[in-house]
Amino acid sequence: MEVTWESPVTAVGGKHAAKLARLPGIATVGDLVGTYPKQHVQKGSLSQLDELTAGDLVSFVGEVASARQFSYQDKRTRRTAYRLEVRVRAEDGALLMTYFDKAKHVADWRLQTELPVGRVGVFSGRLKWFRDEWQLTNPASRLYEEGDDAVDTMPDLIPIYSSIGGITTWQLEETIELALTLLDRVPEVLPPAVVEARDLLPTRQALRWIHRPDTRAQKAMAEKRLKYDEAFVAQCVLARRRLLVEGTVANPRPGRPGGLLDAFDARLPFALTEGQVRVGEEIAEELGRDHPMQRLLQGEVGSGKTVVSLRAMLQVVDSGGQAALLAPTEVLAQQHQRSVERMLGELAQGGMLGGSEHGTRVALLTGSLGAAARRTALAAAAGGEAGIVIGTHALLEDRVQFADLGLVVVDEQHRFGVEQRSALGAKAGTPPHVLVMTATPIPRTVAMTVFGDLDTSTLFELPAGRGEVQTTVVPIKARAAWLERAWQRVREEVAAGHQAYVVASRIDPGDDEVAAAEPVDATGEAPRVLYAVDELAPELAEGALAGLRVEVLHGRMLPEDKDRVMSAFAAGEVDVLVSTTVIEVGVDVPNATVMVILDADRFGVSQLHQLRGRIGRGGHAGLCLLVTGADPLGPSMERLLAVAGTRDGFELSRIDMEQRREGNVLGTQQSGGRAGGLKLLSVLRDEAVIADAREAAFEVLRADPALVGSPDLAAAVRRLEDSEQAEYLEMT
Ligand code: ADP
Ligand code: MG
Repeated sequence: MEVTWESPVTAVGGKHAAKLARLPGIATVGDLVGTYPKQHVQKGSLSQLDELTAGDLVSFVGEVASARQFSYQDKRTRRTAYRLEVRVRAEDGALLMTYFDKAKHVADWRLQTELPVGRVGVFSGRLKWFRDEWQLTNPASRLYEEGDDAVDTMPDLIPIYSSIGGITTWQLEETIELALTLLDRVPEVLPPAVVEARDLLPTRQALRWIHRPDTRAQKAMAEKRLKYDEAFVAQCVLARRRLLVEGTVANPRPGRPGGLLDAFDARLPFALTEGQVRVGEEIAEELGRDHPMQRLLQGEVGSGKTVVSLRAMLQVVDSGGQAALLAPTEVLAQQHQRSVERMLGELAQGGMLGGSEHGTRVALLTGSLGAAARRTALAAAAGGEAGIVIGTHALLEDRVQFADLGLVVVDEQHRFGVEQRSALGAKAGTPPHVLVMTATPIPRTVAMTVFGDLDTSTLFELPAGRGEVQTTVVPIKARAAWLERAWQRVREEVAAGHQAYVVASRIDPGDDEVAAAEPVDATGEAPRVLYAVDELAPELAEGALAGLRVEVLHGRMLPEDKDRVMSAFAAGEVDVLVSTTVIEVGVDVPNATVMVILDADRFGVSQLHQLRGRIGRGGHAGLCLLVTGADPLGPSMERLLAVAGTRDGFELSRIDMEQRREGNVLGTQQSGGRAGGLKLLSVLRDEAVIADAREAAFEVLRADPALVGSPDLAAAVRRLEDSEQAEYLEMT
């Protein structure tokens, strides 16, 4: 039988193919060959030891030279425990492996029989300096079977595959080797001109060398080629989607001179920043076209995105359409409604006594509305009286109808997936224009990869008169007295007429789960008792902040209570708001000048940056105190110092992504795989490759939209589109 890229793995035959075929993610021969080694180990080399330090990961191939078992008294359990010391010899030295007996009975202790003298294997573990020599403690090892030919024919660079489903690295290596020999044709996804111009290897060569290179240089060349393929296929998927949108018809919404937008601009109490003007023009122009706008607007917290989006909404209303603003939380939707109505003033009272003649109406639709209010809002949306409809997920429900939905604005996009974007879009007769806003700055390449079907606009500067926000880490493990000083600063700010936020990661002390916070490091420290809003607020009100008006806000409160507290805080009737991260996005109270974040190490870098964006908004200098009980020398402290050290959101989001690993950023957490079939490509490090592949992809698709001339590429694009991973490409 002919073995092709699309053949089932079982077509390869061999001892292990059947077992491999049962594994998730390995169905075809292509999947199998696309399972790359996680690393290559240099046979017999220990020379690297000179350059390594304790804690470094070492892998090497060697032969068991001696194995001895010792017993000792375990201090904790007071039982006899066992330790095995195995010396493994490589060509240029030997290294001690120490295995500690974790089994309860020595009868379970089989390592000694598994590691007989003379057995060859690969050992991998972290270096430790102990009793005057380097050793590896409980290293992972893979042993060659006795009499295995592989020992003699062992290449210099040994591929090490992640063990999956009980299949060893050797079994995988053998089966892949067989598949590569049997495959009569390997698909070429790149046009020959692209390969030539970039001096890339042919695919078959690249596949051989990614698995079994003779030299590191070969491996690097193979990676270069296969990385390019990944970038190119992913960009083709995005480019197709883009070209599809460009081919879709939308209602142009060019606006109207002397309309709502002009009236709004005339009453705006401030001048737009240069960025707001530039981005505003871009958007205005696109809304006037007969293709749907698909734009991502990114800008620091407080950079004035809301005003930009409101102006776009007004232009659409001026053109006879409606706009929907989708917010991630109830608090935020309510706040948007308040601030939009405030900014619009009489312009938001269309059809009402005292309202402006051009006026429109703003409707709010959230899950917690009473039946009567909901009916009114639904009617205003369906009848078209409400030019602007603001809401949460409730907007997506079937019964919500619009008279003529022309623009969908999605605020703080990272909480919405593409399905929600399109669910709203489906409520319009013709596809609406779409504006997605995010305050989490996204590095350019991530934007290109994750939002490749959106155009991007960025607001770089903050409106003038923004106060500086000073951020200070308060390490209470080292200096307990500093916490008292933090509360004193809060009292001082309130005495000066300002307000304060106190943020904790938990709602009540019994919470197992840390509300919305990400426990980022696994230092193995004993868990600390974390501050909880419900406990902290009364404590502060009676203690350190006695005499101040303290209120609580968190996600488990009734919506009307949340609204009441937020309104009171916005009105200056509350001095100190003790809350969880519900205030993270968008909340805007310019008079708040100080924020104390407790257990700051529990939050992610971007999350802290978002939180602190709540202060320093009213032209007053702000102070953000990151209180932490974390180890002063540990990794979480480093993270906090990074946040304290810069207000550059791009820089911080880069740090954040590096720490959370890219997979998680792109939403592949559950699948365990990486985004969009990316195995070698790094969206953070391979910027040049992605940008280049993007151009090449557009060029190819513009010339041949259906890819009739490139069947291999068409197949690869279809595979990616079909695979469930395709949705991660647009995951937001
Ligand atoms: P973002 O949504 O980007 O976080 P907002 O649109 O909420 O920012 O703006 C933050 C604050 O700055 C609001 O109070 C807004 O009225 C104000 N603002 C927006 N643009 C300007 C500007 N050009 N000049 C002065 N203040 C502005
Ligand atoms: Mg905002």
